[in-house]
Amino acid sequence: MSRKLKEKAVHRLSSEKGTVIKRWGRKVTVALVYPNTYYVGMSNLGYQQVYYLLNQREDTLCERVFLPDREDMDEYQRTGTQIFSLESQRPLRDFDIIAFSIPFENDYLNALKILEMGNIPLMAAERSEEHPLVIAGGVTTFLNPEPIADFIDLFLIGEGEEVVNQFIDSFIKNSNGDKQEMLSSLSKVEGAYVPSFYQVAYKENGEMESFLPKGKVPKKVKRRWIRDIDSAPTISRIFAHDTEFSGMQLVEISRGCGRGCRFCTAGFIYLPPRIRNPKKILNDISGQWSVASGKSTHIEKVGLVSAAVSDYPFINSLCAPLIAKGKKVSVSSLRMDSTTDELVDALKNSGHKTMTFAPEAGTERLRNVINKGISEDDILKSVEMAISRGILNAKLYFLIGLPAETDDDIEGIVKLAKRIKKEVLALTKEAGRIGTITLSINPFIPKPWTPFQWSPMEDVKSLGNKLGCIKGALKKEGNIEVNHENPKDSYLQALLSRGDRRVGRVIRKALETGSWSRGIKDSQVDTDFYVYRIRNKGEILHWDFIYHGIEKGYLWKEYERALKGKFTPPCNPPKCHRCGVC
Ligand code: SF4
Repeated sequence: MSRKLKEKAVHRLSSEKGTVIKRWGRKVTVALVYPNTYYVGMSNLGYQQVYYLLNQREDTLCERVFLPDREDMDEYQRTGTQIFSLESQRPLRDFDIIAFSIPFENDYLNALKILEMGNIPLMAAERSEEHPLVIAGGVTTFLNPEPIADFIDLFLIGEGEEVVNQFIDSFIKNSNGDKQEMLSSLSKVEGAYVPSFYQVAYKENGEMESFLPKGKVPKKVKRRWIRDIDSAPTISRIFAHDTEFSGMQLVEISRGCGRGCRFCTAGFIYLPPRIRNPKKILNDISGQWSVASGKSTHIEKVGLVSAAVSDYPFINSLCAPLIAKGKKVSVSSLRMDSTTDELVDALKNSGHKTMTFAPEAGTERLRNVINKGISEDDILKSVEMAISRGILNAKLYFLIGLPAETDDDIEGIVKLAKRIKKEVLALTKEAGRIGTITLSINPFIPKPWTPFQWSPMEDVKSLGNKLGCIKGALKKEGNIEVNHENPKDSYLQALLSRGDRRVGRVIRKALETGSWSRGIKDSQVDTDFYVYRIRNKGEILHWDFIYHGIEKGYLWKEYERALKGKFTPPCNPPKCHRCGVC
């Protein structure tokens, strides 16, 4: 092993607070892998939560593994060092379980790279009892795990708090002996999905013919979700300075969202929406604060995490005591129809210079199609609210390539940006400094488990033209910046989120060739089939085997309502039963 790499790991550990270092010799050892760098992985609250849950157990040792930093890749190659864990610098092969936590599809390639650097056979079928069990969880896996099904022995579908302990209990009980027998026992854990226990068949036209259990495994794999959300606080556990949210304590304040925006996965796969008790959150924050307070990790901010922070009913009574205690609060994006003056004040007092909103579409018609339910008035009022409280910059998220989108909707983004700028100018004239408006425009990707799962993605070239139109129309507008995702990257994300097991060939070829475009070419997989094809109502979708509780018919009805521009009001648990989850 390279001394240089080992020293870097030890140095990293020394700059952390909250790390769990355990002696080996426990009943089960887990390498918890985030398929990207330390900087990205340690900024992910879900990853930290699983680390905490596993290390809560006396019988389990859990250590972290990340994709090496780019600048270290040559050193790994030069020294032939196998990838190793952070806590004890042990190679992957030493662990009983390699557990991937995968929130983003584009990290699938990194997951294979990590197995390769750990000298672990890539294909599940090539691994035996002498190899660690390779499992995966995380939001991508309960959307559609099929593109990586051939590389993973078992998936845990759902929220870690609900399934991790049951899984580890079963593993400890059943891990001695034949791999197939062990997998058969583990597959009895609700939410466990063993791809090799299901037979997939395709029609001549490439559509799925059937997805059948090969033995005594459930026809549908149930998503596990935690009912009593306050029983498992989700909060930063390890504090380090080399992360995106350095100096910030992340805390989840609610899970799921009942708004039903028809493009948004978080709005469906985390149903029903669940709210955390503000008193409990404040206790958790102060409890963790003592862990964090140390000379090397200066924590001054609390990042409030939720799919819709401003929808949190106790947002004011949560922010006020935090601000009163001299803490600062930070949030991701806000809904324009539920942001309060008090919240804006709290953000202003916390040093926020930019308010981030997500109108998503440039016209009211299209906002109804996607069920965003935000009027132009809401948009202008929230910009005015922010400016009148001293936050002069605005960041606005838009999607292009949405179902039923017309040229008027693209023009609508330009008009809305100009209108907001006019508003900003009028409001900031006295301030003598005008704020910047940033448009962040992303191509729409039709995701599984949303009403738009049957829609195709728009052609990359056409998306490029639309971006060109918007940028061209706003070029001469001072103080308006436009940034956007590259439609080619969105094409890839669409492929990896809508693909089936055959797409695994693309990922493998991309690893071999070192490039996605070469991988797509060499795999000879017709990737447009997955990205650009409209799915039929009656078609078996290769993620249908996951049971989220949401009726497929409900999603189809929402799709039809979308095409008619009909708005659906937010869900109202537990009285309502419309989607099937409650
Ligand atoms: S049944 Fe109703 S309340 Fe429950 S998650 Fe579905 S839409 Fe929301």
